[in-house]
Amino acid sequence: MQNDTSPHTNDHRDGQSNSYLSPDPDERLAAPPLYQGDADTDNTVVVCGAGGFIGGHLVADLLRQGYDQVRAVDIKSPNRWFQKFPQADNRSLDLREKDNCYAALADADQVYNLAADMGGMGFIENNKALCMLSVRINTHLLMAARDMDVDRYFYSSSACVYNAEKQDTPDVEPLSEEDAYPALPEDGYGWEKLFSERMCRHFREDFGLTTRVARYHNVYGPFGTYDGGREKAPAALTRKVIEAEMSGDHEIVIWGNGEQTRSFQYIDDCVKGTQMIMHSDIEYPINLGTSELVTINELVDTVADIAGIELEREYDLTKPQGVDGRNSDNTKIQGELGWEPSIPLREGIEVTYEWIKDQMLEHRAQEERSVFALP
Ligand code: NAD
Repeated sequence: MQNDTSPHTNDHRDGQSNSYLSPDPDERLAAPPLYQGDADTDNTVVVCGAGGFIGGHLVADLLRQGYDQVRAVDIKSPNRWFQKFPQADNRSLDLREKDNCYAALADADQVYNLAADMGGMGFIENNKALCMLSVRINTHLLMAARDMDVDRYFYSSSACVYNAEKQDTPDVEPLSEEDAYPALPEDGYGWEKLFSERMCRHFREDFGLTTRVARYHNVYGPFGTYDGGREKAPAALTRKVIEAEMSGDHEIVIWGNGEQTRSFQYIDDCVKGTQMIMHSDIEYPINLGTSELVTINELVDTVADIAGIELEREYDLTKPQGVDGRNSDNTKIQGELGWEPSIPLREGIEVTYEWIKDQMLEHRAQEERSVFALP
């Protein structure tokens, strides 16, 4: 397969934004594919974690390319998936169980493992054992992939694998792939990711399974979690700004001092980059993130500006805020693929803001309807 050599522009979205975001799944599939490389559309592709944020977008993009055998698997029942397409073979399976992994991967050519028990800082700080138990998913999927002669296996790792000592200042040096060692990753979640990506390497070296690993830096966008405790910073802060806008009470509580820095990658770049890495020759875990570094305060500024409001800020220093600074060094991905995630934060947040606001307005309308429906 060849890599996508299209330029780093986002012209796939020109005039198309409505179809990418349509509540109608068929309209979403009518948009051009984000990944423009060659596709063996007669392959059977399995997306694990398809009911989640990134998995749902990936299934959509595979269907757009014309794959007619896309198997979408998640522990949640399909009526709770963020996106569900009748064109895919949608299955509800607990992939911690070995037998389920073998069933999920029957006749599979390509496997994307995006399934994990995870969430934002509030979740991973307080659920370290649960995060580590996701190791069962990747272990059993790798064993099934090896035994069933899968052609290519993708694992979604995280920037949380990086050594904490290299992220102790907001003015951080971008993290390059070597900075994962000596190992001092995020407790719980990061250790599981580092172990699992290492396991992919040894399955490749010892058993000849073709494995590919991306280290995702924060991904955000529509059709993802924005409330309930598992949401990540961009969705959580966007929701809080909209709550302030809707209530007229223009105050916001920010976790930490607001000066911690991050880079945030829009979902379209993530879905495109994931497939480029899957079909590449890159055998080591590689960064997939933008290098547009912002403080959390600047992220709030962006959302507030889009909403057209000014906010009074309160900083809650008792809440988890993660490392002080984290950015992606994209030297390697540029060298390997001639491409890197580049959708500007402002552009991606505008789309995310519209989607979250629509969800919140719909939720409010439903609540009002159910109140009026009472006898
Ligand atoms: P998500 O929580 O929206 O999706 C994960 C999906 O996995 C969920 O739908 C969940 O139900 C499913 N799942 C959990 N346990 C399962 C099990 N036992 N069997 C089958 N399915 C199971 O998360 P996401 O944001 O889409 O992330 C996808 C992957 O990318 C994860 O591995 C995550 O760790 C990784 N990642 C995400 C980000 C990000 O910013 N979103 C950053 C770094 C890494």
